[in-house]
Amino acid sequence: MTFVPNSASARDIAHHLHPYTNLKVHETEGPLVITGGKGVHVFDEDGKDYIEAMAGLWSVSLGFNEQRLVDAAIKQMKELPYYHTFTHKSHLPSIDLAEKLKSVAPVEMSKVIFQNSGSEANDTVVKLIWYFWNAQNKPEKKKIISRIKGYHGVTVASASLTGLPNNHRDFDLPIANILHADCPHYYRFGLEGESEEEFATRMADNLEKLILKEGPETVGAFIAEPIMGAGGVIVPPKTYFEKIQAVLKKYDVLFCADEVICGFWRTGNYWGSQTFGMKPDILSCAKALSSSYLPISAVMVNERVYQACVTESEKIGVFGHGYTYSGHPVAAAVALETLKIYEERDIGAHVGKVGPLLQKGIAGFASHPLIGEVRGTGLIGAMEMVQDKKTRAAFDPKLGVGAKFAKIAQKNGLIVRAIGDSVAFCPPLIITEQEMGDMLSRYAKSLDEVAAQLKADGIA
Ligand code: PMP
Repeated sequence: MTFVPNSASARDIAHHLHPYTNLKVHETEGPLVITGGKGVHVFDEDGKDYIEAMAGLWSVSLGFNEQRLVDAAIKQMKELPYYHTFTHKSHLPSIDLAEKLKSVAPVEMSKVIFQNSGSEANDTVVKLIWYFWNAQNKPEKKKIISRIKGYHGVTVASASLTGLPNNHRDFDLPIANILHADCPHYYRFGLEGESEEEFATRMADNLEKLILKEGPETVGAFIAEPIMGAGGVIVPPKTYFEKIQAVLKKYDVLFCADEVICGFWRTGNYWGSQTFGMKPDILSCAKALSSSYLPISAVMVNERVYQACVTESEKIGVFGHGYTYSGHPVAAAVALETLKIYEERDIGAHVGKVGPLLQKGIAGFASHPLIGEVRGTGLIGAMEMVQDKKTRAAFDPKLGVGAKFAKIAQKNGLIVRAIGDSVAFCPPLIITEQEMGDMLSRYAKSLDEVAAQLKADGIA
């Protein structure tokens, strides 16, 4: 492709190092430059419209032009554009937001600490776990178990928790004391004849074996997303979290829920923890906390964890953790307004209406010869393309079938995320029935085109 000199695309290629991008391909293909948005749609430089079926990065819950969030930001900017929360200082947006989050928490929580991103939230979780066990005089109980294909961020500690090879390879990660348990993907890892419940039992048994092998006195915490998002929208098998939590309890291992994607109605309940019966000691959230209009994340801790922080920090006089922008007043004000809108518009009831339409819509593709598995809950879902439906054999990753799909979908005005050969859906929560239909028909058109292309190439 050739680019008009000084166009946005040409300048992007010249100056911008992109996260999560194939850098070599980018040099020739350049970016899709998005210039505006309305509801579930975004527009590019040429005015072409796309349904943003991923809500940006699983996050723009209220769509791309919510005026109330803009107004909330302006109001706070005028009142107090910045203040910090170190050294006994505070401001109203942070106080209000902490109080509000506690009032909607899935279990009783004691305190809330703020960061700017999901990664920072999970780094804070790691540090709180270590701090907690030091306070308990169990400094050896520091290992943290996350899961293969789990996604928890990209900072040094949170990328270590993440169980995906691209986040470790060549970055010299993971750091010490991070372990990865099985990925609970029944379709991929269930054994022949094994029921979903039996698979969940095996996952929990394997976790117990891992804890015993390492020594329970060395294992401090387990962290999990309710539904694994970036790992491929992997919905836990029935009874999974019930069985996992029984193991954690037995060995006094803290349970941390990463609600960065699943929080705020994504799975049909306020929290994914409620959908899957999780009772976390620590909970991290971000993304839809502010509908992503400004960066903000939060970590909630229960009383036991909080008391340990008090005890430990008393020894040295200060809890030595926090960011310049922890609880930034403008971001906090926008988050508060976001939570207010969820309540006023009864977003939960809306997801209760449109979520089943998404699930029914994607289930309709289960019989397509390219689709191996359809999975999801609420307003999150995925369809996995396979080489052989019967044997579940995947395509050779080198063929990049998922990436091919995403490219064709983009041409058809649909932005989705390809995770390997799974195509993920996570539309803004405000999506209407009609928009859902439009999204699914753009998907259907793209699937037919991919199928035709694979056939023409002799691949499927
Ligand atoms: N946890 C989960 C479950 C996520 O999906 C993500 C981001 N996709 C993160 C943590 C990291 O968030 P951020 O990109 O804001 O650092």
